[in-house]
Formats: sequence, C-alpha cells, structure tokens
Amino acid sequence: MRIARIVDRTAFIMSKPVCYSAKAFATPGATAPLAATTIERRQPTATDVQIEILYCGVCHSDLHFARNEWHFTQYPAVPGHEIVGRVTAVGGGVTKFKVGDTVGIGCLVDSCRTCPECRSGLEQFCPQMTMTYGSVDKHLGTPTLGGYSTSIVVTEEFVLRLPANLNPAAAAPLLCAGITTYSPLRRWKIGPGHKVGVVGLGGLGHMAVKFAKAFGAHVVLFTTSPGKIADGKRLGADEVVVSTQPAQMGAHAGSFDFILDAVSAPHDINAYVSLLKRDGTVVLVGAPEQPLPVAAFPLLMGRRAISGSLIGGLPETQEMLDFCGRHNLTSDIELIRMDQINSAYERMLKSDVKYRFVIDMASLR
Ligand code: NAP
Ligand code: ZN
Ligand code: ZN
Repeated sequence: MRIARIVDRTAFIMSKPVCYSAKAFATPGATAPLAATTIERRQPTATDVQIEILYCGVCHSDLHFARNEWHFTQYPAVPGHEIVGRVTAVGGGVTKFKVGDTVGIGCLVDSCRTCPECRSGLEQFCPQMTMTYGSVDKHLGTPTLGGYSTSIVVTEEFVLRLPANLNPAAAAPLLCAGITTYSPLRRWKIGPGHKVGVVGLGGLGHMAVKFAKAFGAHVVLFTTSPGKIADGKRLGADEVVVSTQPAQMGAHAGSFDFILDAVSAPHDINAYVSLLKRDGTVVLVGAPEQPLPVAAFPLLMGRRAISGSLIGGLPETQEMLDFCGRHNLTSDIELIRMDQINSAYERMLKSDVKYRFVIDMASLR
C-alpha cells in the first residue's frame, strides 16, 4: 500500500508539466492584505490555451474567499474569476483559438466532461469541477490560483469567445456577475408580462437589472442605499424601492413573479418571500457567510418557493456573451490598479462600488 502510494507520487511528479512564472497578487491568510507575489503556471499542454490577462473583475466572492468566509480557502490564495485576456500560445491540439484572440475565463477551468451534469452543459454542478480558484489543479496537484495575475493557462473547452464589439474591461464582469444573473432569469423564463425584483445593486444586482430589462420584464430594484435610486433607474429599473422603508415594501406585497436576491450579507429573506404572488420564486444567488433564517408561513401562504442558482455552464456562458455582443451590453465599472485591491475590498464591504471594480492588469506587469 505504502509502496503503491510512493509509485503513484513518483508517476505524478514525473508527469508534472513544466512551469513558468507569472506575477500575481495573493493573500497569505484570512486577515492579511493581498500583496505582490510570483506563482507558477503550467506550460500549455496540447489542449491548453495560454492567456495574457488584461483585465480581471473583482467579485464579492473573491472577498469571501480571500477572508475564508466559506471555510475552504487554502493559502496563499489568489482570487479572481472574471478574466479577459489575449491568447499568447496554444497547444498543438487546440482548434477553437489562435494567438491574438481576445477571450474570457469565468469561475470554472475544468470538469470531468462525462457525468450527467457535464453532458447537459451544466459543468458548474459537476462533482469534479475545477474552480478557477479554490479547487485542486488537476495538472499540478496544488490549489488553483485565480485571475489577479498576469497570465493563466486553461484547457480550451473552458475558454470563451468574447464578442469583438464589447469593451474588454467592461466585459470582464460578464464572466461571473453576468452569467450568474443571466442563468436564473433564463431558467425561470423571465420575459414580458413578468414583475421581477432584484435585491441589492452591486456587481450582480446591476447586471440582473440590465438583463431583466433586456428580457422585457417590469423590473423593481430593492436597495438599502437611497443614493442608488437614480442609478437604478438609469440602469433599467422601472421602480426602485428603498428596502429599509416598510411602507415602500408593503406597497408591493403579493405582486412579484420572481425575485433575484444578490445580497452578500445577512438580511431578511422572508420580507421578499412575502412580496411574491402565488407560486412565485425567490432565487438566491448571494452567498452570505451565515445561514439565512426562513419563516414557514410566508412560504406556505401562496405555495411560494425559495431556490438558488450557481453561475452557469459553459454553453450558457457563451450564449450570454453572444447575447451581450448583440445588445452591446456590459458592466458599469470602476477601473483600478492591482495595488488598489485592498481598499477596493473595503469599499465593496460598504456597498460603495459603481458597480464593479475591474483590475487593469497592465498595472501588475
Ligand atoms: P457586491 O457588489 O458587494 O453587491 C452586494 C450588494 O448587496 C451591495 O451593493 C448592497 O446593495 C447589498 N448589501 C450589502 N450588504 C447588505 C446588507 N447587510 N443588507 C442588505 N443589502 C446589503 O457583491 P456581488 O459581487 O454582487 O456578490 C453578491 C453575492 O453573490 C456575494 O455573496 C457573492 O459571493 C455571491 N455570488 C454568488 C454567485 C453564484 O453563483 N451564486 C456568483 C457570484 C457571486 P444596496 O446598496 O443596493 O443595498
Ligand atoms: Zn464571482
Ligand atoms: Zn462532470
């Protein structure tokens, strides 16, 4: 048994790909700031695409992960899964991409390709999916390292085509915030005649408002920030409700078909269940550290539902990018330098982002 393990390990080391160095920003622990470092990336294998990272969006998941709020972070940790870059090399077997292409990488870099989820194009639910950060790299056997970096190597099936008309910096957040909000709106077939609520005007929320409006729904934004009312309307909301005002909330009781909850912190989800019509659904995409208490009666009355949704699979992510290309739809961003990331996290915690930070990776090169 022990010998078998040594043989396995030797075989693994012998098959370990050759690596090269890339610059990155990492955190060594949950309470430490992110700082410059050097990481290893594998040299592209036959099916790999090597990408020079141009822009990386800053998702609230990056902050949850950097601070180990979901309790699975391994350090040093490199967050970042809203990646846009330029192809710098391709393996001999790569057919979909060539050097110079502008491409995107989202939250996934690999999966098993054979399970029912993978065969359905729902790679995000594959039991063996490899996340861009926070998983174990199949090639190196070490934790995967995300997009706060100058370069990344990804198998071609997990590389996405970016429509040429989209601004590459403003398109970066589509790779997570975009698909995470597009997917449930499509899954629940949102369109004209639906009254849709969006809770929280952050990175995800502002994309949800844009997509719900583009799909023809009547969109109501719920925000805790009265200062975001005008932006909410500009971004496409037909109405904006300040959720801390009980009278404003009460005026919408029992009226929604669908509410997308994109809040990053503990809050009262029952208040939103009560706003649903019969058979309406609240879909959670926000992932606060603590569980959200659920009251029985608002669910029982009207057979209402609470569901959840996780990013989207590769085919739907490409569909979303192509939709954004056709509708010229991107995120509203604040472009920052890599060394501004720690203050960006603090502003994100204060709900003070308009409406997604994107790192200009030229600042790290
Ligand atoms: P974000 O940009 O920080 O936006 C979160 C928004 O939630 C804030 O702008 C704020 O909006 C509202 N909010 C914050 N604290 C609140 C509180 N205590 N009570 C009520 N509202 C509050 O975050 P994000 O990047 O959009 O991510 C949102 C959440 O989704 C995070 O938990 C993230 O990890 C998760 N996420 C999930 C998936 C998935 O696949 N399911 C994918 C990506 C991200 P207002 O100022 O308008 O109130
Ligand atoms: Zn994300
Ligand atoms: Zn699978």
